[in-house]
Amino acid sequence: MVGGRTNHWGRISLRFGPRDFKAKTFDGLGDDWPISYDDVKPYYEKLERLVGVFGSVENIPNAPDSIFLPAPKPRCYELLVQQAARRLNVTCVPARLSILTQPLNGRPACHYCGQCNRGCKTNSNFSSTNVLIAPALRTGKLTLKTNAMAREVTLDRTGKASGVTYIDTTDGSEHHIDAHVVVLAASACETSRLLLNSKSPSFPNGLANGSGTVGKYLTDTTGTDVGGFVPKMMDHVPHNHDGVGGMHVYMPWWLDNKKLDFPRGYHIEVWGGADMPDYGILGGIQNYAPGGGYGKQLKQDYRRYYGAYVGFSGRGEMIPNEGSYCEIDPNVVDKWGIPVPRFHWKFTDHEYLQVKHMQETFRALIKEMGGTPWGDMPTKEDGYGIAAGGVIIHELGGARMGADPKSSVVNSNCQTHEVKNLFVADGAPFTSQADKNPTWTIMALSWRTSEYIADQMKKRAL
Ligand SMILES: Cc1cc2nc3c(=O)[nH]c(=O)nc-3n(C[C@H](O)[C@H](O)[C@H](O)COP(=O)(O)OP(=O)(O)OC[C@H]3O[C@@H](n4cnc5c(N)ncnc54)[C@H](O)[C@@H]3O)c2cc1C
Ligand code: SF4
Repeated sequence: MVGGRTNHWGRISLRFGPRDFKAKTFDGLGDDWPISYDDVKPYYEKLERLVGVFGSVENIPNAPDSIFLPAPKPRCYELLVQQAARRLNVTCVPARLSILTQPLNGRPACHYCGQCNRGCKTNSNFSSTNVLIAPALRTGKLTLKTNAMAREVTLDRTGKASGVTYIDTTDGSEHHIDAHVVVLAASACETSRLLLNSKSPSFPNGLANGSGTVGKYLTDTTGTDVGGFVPKMMDHVPHNHDGVGGMHVYMPWWLDNKKLDFPRGYHIEVWGGADMPDYGILGGIQNYAPGGGYGKQLKQDYRRYYGAYVGFSGRGEMIPNEGSYCEIDPNVVDKWGIPVPRFHWKFTDHEYLQVKHMQETFRALIKEMGGTPWGDMPTKEDGYGIAAGGVIIHELGGARMGADPKSSVVNSNCQTHEVKNLFVADGAPFTSQADKNPTWTIMALSWRTSEYIADQMKKRAL
């Protein structure tokens, strides 16, 4: 789909911090990136000036401030969350979302309808489709080929990429686009699949896969959620909670791992309150006194209880490991006859213990608000409620960046070590995760790679 997942993403737009690029230096786990925060910082800044992100300057060392538009005020339930967080010494600050609170570059400010996950009629939130691709099309220099399912990258006789073979999904016919430079940006796992499916005598194990690491060191954000009933929020004065289509406050990582039994950190996303009702609201009203019902009583109960809940979602850093990877399934093809990837996943105690800490923290926050968490604390046997790999949809790795071609696929410019006119501009080059959502960094890195390609083309070096 044009624009990919930015059509309906959450717009949480966090810079990685200096420590995220060099985490191994601090705790010996995973690998350091061959680039540092200072290499990416100018591209975060360009992105923020072009796209816009709201937030507040907080000077938190590993949660760098962006060039912020003003943040919206906390909603009623978010104020209560903030007060409880302060009492428990958990940092809670305005959220950082790529939604305009002031007009920017011809796009109007948000009018607070709270419906961002349906797109935005006024282009006040960010999606690649509206904010990047539409203006690029207007230049007349971009040709968009839709209904085109890329199957493999082809090579010329000199070993350079010569283009891409694709299937026209309207009729199943096969075509080829010639290219001077090929940039893969199909998302981390699909880029891995494309490389692994691009076999040739010079690359029998997949293109640019001399290291054998294509598809390897896949990670996803660690995650778990806890919600709960908060009586203090019952029978409130009806008012509009909508705001932007996302949280107005969040909690960046606030602790020191030296005092904990797991490495790295997580941030906390906050939900709750009485936003626009949708299908299935308060499913489970029978669990509240007086136990559900019919007619007038049921309506009164909905009015009393609707919005009297909060929830927290932990989003943390998984350490890459050799047991989490994808490979081509030798027996299964998709409807176009293209071999599909199969996945192997392994979490270790690093992730399980981090998620246990999330569960304990979220339950403590709900209790601090005078509430009751829904359900019991998941046990060790249940992995403390950890979301399965892939569920948080922050998959990264598969063509990781590194200085050594023996253990990585791309160099510090996201250029494959082995094919100099082949680049990767999605989450696949990430050497590691962070306790941040990844898309702001995917976009900053792809801007950096684009500038490098333009520079190399001008020098006729590709
Ligand atoms: C519901 C949801 C909420 C999210 N919220 C956040 C958030 O708040 N903050 C954040 O940072 N991240 C968030 N994410 C993650 C974010 O959407 C991804 O990190 C980001 O979109 C990845 O960008 P990408 O370009 O690598 O991949 P995608 O956005 O998946 O784009 C890949 C593109 O390639 C196309 N494609 C794939 N295969 C082929 C092929 N074989 N041939 C041709 N085209 C192909 C796809 O159609 C698509 O257009 C969220 C994701 C979801 C689903
Ligand atoms: S809440 Fe989201 S969808 Fe609604 S106007 Fe604001 S940016 Fe657009």
